Amino acid sequence: MKKTIHLKPGDLVEHKFIQNRELTYQVRQDTMHDLENIGEDIKHLSLVIQSIQRNYQVLLDQNQQLQSLLLNLVKNCYCWEGNRCHNCQKILQAIVKNPTDLDPVYTEKYQDIVTQLRKQN
Ligand SMILES: [Zn+2]
Repeated sequence: MKKTIHLKPGDLVEHKFIQNRELTYQVRQDTMHDLENIGEDIKHLSLVIQSIQRNYQVLLDQNQQLQSLLLNLVKNCYCWEGNRCHNCQKILQAIVKNPTDLDPVYTEKYQDIVTQLRKQN
């Protein structure tokens, strides 16, 4: 005697539904896991950016202070503009060559980009 299983259409639908449901659940769980990971990465990046901002601000402040100090040394020296002594010339050259000063061409480009971005928002 042959043993056969007769699936009613209703059983097939049910079976597919259960399979899909499990698959959907798994996909959603994976998505949640991915989102958690992305969230953690963003938190980490945010901390890195904050740290860079703090360090950059300190660097900017120090740079400003040093430049002011050096310019005051030149200003208070016995020599005068157009006829600077050797020390003042060295100081002025060092300030002019300061690598932390931005190239005016790049500064202009940067300002253009910022202006464009602000217009979009
Ligand atoms: Zn001088």
